[in-house]
Amino acid sequence: MPLHIIDHPLVHDALTSLRDKRTGPEHFRRAATRISVLLAAEALRDVPSSEVTVETPLGPASGRKVGADVVVVPVLRAGLGMLDAVLELVPAARVGHIGLQRDEMTAVASQYYSKLPSRLDNSFVLMIDPMLATGGSAVAALDLLARAGAHTVRIVCIVAAPEGVALVERHHPNVDIYTPVVDLKLNDHKYIVPGLGDFGDRLYGTV
Ligand code: URA
Repeated sequence: MPLHIIDHPLVHDALTSLRDKRTGPEHFRRAATRISVLLAAEALRDVPSSEVTVETPLGPASGRKVGADVVVVPVLRAGLGMLDAVLELVPAARVGHIGLQRDEMTAVASQYYSKLPSRLDNSFVLMIDPMLATGGSAVAALDLLARAGAHTVRIVCIVAAPEGVALVERHHPNVDIYTPVVDLKLNDHKYIVPGLGDFGDRLYGTV
């Protein structure tokens, strides 16, 4: 099962701040960035890199540089809250955007925007979407990435629900999921319980 649970005290510290309903947008954004750095670093643990030599002021030193074409794809709008963190780790990454909107009544995702970099077949793609709830948007975004030629795709999320993990696994068994937690369940409105509420609303103060 390609599910990676990232169990790290700093990840849980940030997650607890995100869950806390008293956390306002300013601190929510900072905690989202903090946790995303740690999660993305795990998801990139085996990113291809190559050996290089650089000159320090005292002589040559061998090192490694990221050799892969890393592509980050935030699912709008909540995924934008994780983007800066990933770009801090991989400044040369290319960025695609996928806009999916879920119907408040049916929770069915429909695409309203998509702009992806070209030539994804050899890229290392990180799809960032903080809440893996029903899995409907994730599968729709993964379908789009597959149609665009992406072969190596990982999802980084902050809270997952069992239903979302199962749906992604069924439709895209080769996609690895990186998350600190799989919460209990979805409620009748398809929100994750206990979750953290609406990530986009809390990030942007649109509650
Ligand atoms: N999206 C959110 O922002 N929160 C949830 O709990 C589920 C989907």
